[in-house]
Amino acid sequence: MSLDRLNLDRFPRIDLCHAPTPLEFMPRLTEHLGGPRLWVKRDDCTGTALGGNKARKLEFLLGEALQQGANHIVTLGALQSNHVRQTAGAAARLGLACTVILEHRHPDPDADYLRNGNMLLDLLLGANMVFRPGGTNMLAALHEVGAELSAQGQRPYLIPTGGSNPVGTLGYVKAAQELLQQAKDKNFVPDQIVVASGSAGTQAGLVVGLAALASTAVVQGFAVSQAEHPQHQRVAALAAATARFIGHESELPPQAVRVNADYLGKGYSIPSEAMVDAVQWVARLEGLLLDPVYTGKAMAGLIDWARTGRFRRDENVVFIHTGGQAGLFGFCDTLSQPRPAITTNKAA
Ligand SMILES: *Cc1c(COP(=O)(O)O)cnc(C)c1O
Repeated sequence: MSLDRLNLDRFPRIDLCHAPTPLEFMPRLTEHLGGPRLWVKRDDCTGTALGGNKARKLEFLLGEALQQGANHIVTLGALQSNHVRQTAGAAARLGLACTVILEHRHPDPDADYLRNGNMLLDLLLGANMVFRPGGTNMLAALHEVGAELSAQGQRPYLIPTGGSNPVGTLGYVKAAQELLQQAKDKNFVPDQIVVASGSAGTQAGLVVGLAALASTAVVQGFAVSQAEHPQHQRVAALAAATARFIGHESELPPQAVRVNADYLGKGYSIPSEAMVDAVQWVARLEGLLLDPVYTGKAMAGLIDWARTGRFRRDENVVFIHTGGQAGLFGFCDTLSQPRPAITTNKAA
């Protein structure tokens, strides 16, 4: 396999990420679960305003924005959106104005959800924050705000939910290449790559990148915002569009897109017990902080699958840590509830 075969240099891109992000083995979680061999790709460490997966997408999105001469970035998300926070940070770094449209999506938030975590950081980063009630057509709102800014003589660049269009998705096509190279340097071949699947760009980009590089690794997405069928369609459609965008000739096989929604719980950003357990387990076994909305639920899936034998014990499974820890501070009440004690060490 030639890792250089995938050349994305023709697409405008700016450097925003600390890359390559570390690829680390998780010995204690691996031992505790009795396998598979668990690795974590630390995309929570991409830099720019606490980092996370959106920074990789923003390298290409803001590359295009600058090429088009934009001076005002507009995007949208939930109040605790990590995408919004990273966009606000990247825009500040580039000296661009930034307006963020925030949707009240959570039905029953902790008090901190409304002002701490990403909300506090958006404020510090100087984003112009506008609010919409839950259930608003947010894409329409994005275009409305964009039209208002244009009418005022500004040059807006609109970024859709999670930065997940083919341009943003290139960030994870590129990341697939980085990951395979690192695994090669560490003398293993990833069998499975586990990722939280929301607006779908992360999963779709990995699927396309791995296919373009003829990797045998399987990408398993755990849905965090909607049911299995619509999420599967969302990932498949974005992967197909991104493959066309980079000129990848062959059709993606249907089995390249795998989505499971068993760990979504009651819905997007609504805490589940399995999420709280997963966040605590990984914190106590690996000193690694996950987030309550995305990685906590994806890790709940991974842990349950390991316990119920859905991975082979000798498989190498890479968990993509997509970031989001700022969100922990928006769920203080939920996460500080007493939980049944977990044993973190095997008996001596
Ligand atoms: C946005 C986000 C995801 C989901 O990535 P998508 O590309 O939107 O599917 C996962 N984890 C975190 C922490 C995120 O902020």
